[in-house]
Amino acid sequence: MAARLAEEWFAICGGCEVTILDIGEPLLDVLKQVEIVHMPVLMDHKLFGQTGEDAEMAIPAADVGLISGGVRSDEHKKLAQEMRKKCKFLIALGSCACYGGIPALANTFSTEELLEKVYRGCVTTEKNGLPCEQIPTLTDRVYAIQEVVPVDAFLPGCPTTPEMVANALIALLEGKPLPPLANKSVCDECPTRREKKAVSILKRRFEGAEFVPGAPLTEMRCLMEQGILCHGPATRAGCGGSEGTPRCIRAYMPCEGCFGPLTEKANPMVDMMGALSSIGLDPKQIPDRAATFNRFSGAGRLRPIPAKR
Ligand code: SF4
Ligand code: SF4
Ligand code: SF4
Repeated sequence: MAARLAEEWFAICGGCEVTILDIGEPLLDVLKQVEIVHMPVLMDHKLFGQTGEDAEMAIPAADVGLISGGVRSDEHKKLAQEMRKKCKFLIALGSCACYGGIPALANTFSTEELLEKVYRGCVTTEKNGLPCEQIPTLTDRVYAIQEVVPVDAFLPGCPTTPEMVANALIALLEGKPLPPLANKSVCDECPTRREKKAVSILKRRFEGAEFVPGAPLTEMRCLMEQGILCHGPATRAGCGGSEGTPRCIRAYMPCEGCFGPLTEKANPMVDMMGALSSIGLDPKQIPDRAATFNRFSGAGRLRPIPAKR
């Protein structure tokens, strides 16, 4: 009998759903063994009954549940609880679901500040009342899924990787445990050459790396040592999959930290400041350090700091 799969998306961009498609050919085998019972990106399954006749929102029971995106509204919260109730095994899909992701950068502002800015404070916006009818109430901040309901497994990354999604689904279908997350940093899988000393000034964002096109990555100097801010030291490895080499490094680009902190309890800001200092770079060159070093992990880590504005 096919395993029943439910998927929900909250505060997201939809990239992690595209990652499911990016699984490519192995997805055909997975789909043969799966019955999708709920997935708003694919099917118009109504939450309150097909004609809106139900008072309570409901999703069908499922063996596996995937949630992408963090919780940003009361509706997301209720849906997360409903997914937890109806899904035997619940997976946080992507860094938004695991750690808040990019939407959690908004946690550096209060909800009132955000609403005021978006609906009334932009030069191109006609000042008007705030939307208040027939829309879900925003939560006070963006929450990671596990801050709202217990989660059984995490697939970080922005987006997560097709290989990780496929491996997780195949393991569940075969009744096996999911592959564990990597227990090392992006630097540990990075083949670039390190000399343990950096240029003193961090380059401006998007200034390119120095490398010889076509030459092996082992001949390129570590990007951080070139003065390019790279979050590899404070970021969990795994994006390179079976190939190993991290995704961005393969493209001569620095790691932006999308796989999130090294461990559940790690503090990316402390880890990055230590890494920068150890090669002679002054972390104070980075003006907004809390948001920069928690770019993908702001749920529970970023707070409004009104005094600094
Ligand atoms: S983790 Fe990244 S790709 Fe996935 S939904 Fe969030 S913003 Fe989009
Ligand atoms: S800082 Fe970046 S470029 Fe340098 S070793 Fe780590 S991941 Fe590679
Ligand atoms: S190198 Fe860093 S930013 Fe790029 S995919 Fe990997 S973890 Fe994400």
